[in-house]
Amino acid sequence: MWLPPAYKAASGKQDAGYGVYDLYDLGEFDQKGSIETKYGTKDEYLKAIYELHKNNIKVYADIVLNHKMGADELEDVFAREAERDNRNVEEGYIKKIKAWTKYTFPGRHDKYSSFKWNYSHFNGADWDEANKENALFRFCGRHWDENVDTENGNYDYLMGTDIDFDNEEVKEELRKWGRWYINTTDIDGLRLDAVKHISSTFMKEWVASMREIKPLDCVGEYWNRNLDTLKQYIEKTEKTIPLFDVPLHYNFFEASNAGGNYDMGRILEGSLVKEMPDMAVTFVDNHDTEPGQALFSFVQPWFKPLAYAIILLRREGVPCVFYGDYYGIPTQGVKPMDSKLEKLTKARKYFAYGDQIDYFNDSSVVGFARLGDSEHTDSGLVTIMSDSTGGSKQVNLGEKFANTSFYDYTGNADGIVQTDAFGNGNFYCNGGSVSVWVKCGNIYG
Ligand code: CA
Repeated sequence: MWLPPAYKAASGKQDAGYGVYDLYDLGEFDQKGSIETKYGTKDEYLKAIYELHKNNIKVYADIVLNHKMGADELEDVFAREAERDNRNVEEGYIKKIKAWTKYTFPGRHDKYSSFKWNYSHFNGADWDEANKENALFRFCGRHWDENVDTENGNYDYLMGTDIDFDNEEVKEELRKWGRWYINTTDIDGLRLDAVKHISSTFMKEWVASMREIKPLDCVGEYWNRNLDTLKQYIEKTEKTIPLFDVPLHYNFFEASNAGGNYDMGRILEGSLVKEMPDMAVTFVDNHDTEPGQALFSFVQPWFKPLAYAIILLRREGVPCVFYGDYYGIPTQGVKPMDSKLEKLTKARKYFAYGDQIDYFNDSSVVGFARLGDSEHTDSGLVTIMSDSTGGSKQVNLGEKFANTSFYDYTGNADGIVQTDAFGNGNFYCNGGSVSVWVKCGNIYG
């Protein structure tokens, strides 16, 4: 389970957590208007992790290192204005601005760390309080991080006060904080926010030093649909940081908007899970792609079961189920997916094991089989889906599945498929739908 950023952020209890103010305040200090964060107090956070562990569920913590927001004091800083869409180009003279760069955390009284942040720990900001001016200011004597995404020339700057990852004091403090955080919370994994805006050299070194404490799972949020860009990041970080499969999400998004005219035989093309299966964390949607968000690209409801069948039932990738799909998003009027999502997660748990045979050989009706393994009784399945009219696939499952009858575990398609003496069966699905065929009379019902 991936838990949201748990530290006090600039907008206090209203803040989802990405506008980080104090990394050491997990809902413990009276700062930004309350003791608790949006998600509760520190004790509640620790108790949640404890309960999840008791139920054999590992926890990924959302780690937001790129920037800070909600500083305590202003400082005079010399800065130059950079162009938004090409940050390597700067215009005008050096000028003195008043920037919110001093973080002293008066409510925490130096507990856990006495480190105070000031302008020398940041590369830039986007607000001059003196002139009430919003612009992209690079601080003099600093340069944008190298080894970041090249969109807009150099995409180091995202928001707030941008942390300088070349600064030795910063690096030491963030290592110290990471050790404290892992030892305090006992988390098992890291969901690394906004890594395209952070020096990949720093990220690789920081993750390595955290793994000296315990063997942590990891996933980076590198929001770019270009596969080569993701591959370059993975190479630069020496395969230590798997990434969310953003290109696959966009394939799902486009297929869901193509009115049945998407080439389903190419649904995995250009995805990370196809090219580098060990480095892919797959997902259908997330809190950034939902309606009302900057990266809005919400997969149409009719296609979601097809997309989830792909990420949950195939062998490759670590799948991620979105809270908003499971429980709905009331503020956006988005209803939860029906019980079919839960069926698909159960199909993963009970049946999705063993070798995989692919049938991505048609523009509409595609599918794949899993042949099961000896550790999981009655495991094995056949998934068939179509983005237009329904249809079928002739699938050979081998002798192990000779003369076997199958039913659609999702309940989408009626009837029984019977295999012959060689394990051949004609498996089908309805139009714009997915079916997951499993053995009749299996022990899971
Ligand atoms: Ca940055």
